[in-house]
Amino acid sequence: MRIGTGWDLHCLVSKRALVLGGVVIPSDKGEAAHSDGDVLVHAIIDALLGSLAKGDIGSHFPDTDPAYKDADSMQLLKKVLSEDLPPYHIENIDTTLILQTPKLRPHIEAIRKNLAKAMGLKLEQVSVKAKTAEGILGELGSGDAVIAQATVLIS
Ligand code: MG
Repeated sequence: MRIGTGWDLHCLVSKRALVLGGVVIPSDKGEAAHSDGDVLVHAIIDALLGSLAKGDIGSHFPDTDPAYKDADSMQLLKKVLSEDLPPYHIENIDTTLILQTPKLRPHIEAIRKNLAKAMGLKLEQVSVKAKTAEGILGELGSGDAVIAQATVLIS
């Protein structure tokens, strides 16, 4: 067995979609990024690459590469799962999102289902939790940033 952790942060700006785990969440603001900015999928990719000691998302998919402009992060995740993960497989993933607004509770199950389907996992292997920043911590508390953390166990 091997374990990996991932962490990511994106600024939230107007006229961008808020994409979390491949699900578009109704919101006034979305992630500013070279790709679609899916902070949750980026953290999961980093956790997977970390568990394999194979570098990080930036070394695999450089944001200076025009190929990844507005990239669908779910496709990047699928590439890691098919090309980097074997012969290992995922036992479970556990993630936490930190976002002041909008409230994520109504969307958590949709995010879990979408991740499980995309990753070929059962729903009970995918945990997604969400918290606010209690209105503090600068941009996080004012709703101008989002953080995602992920832990993955592979065997
Ligand atoms: Mg990112």
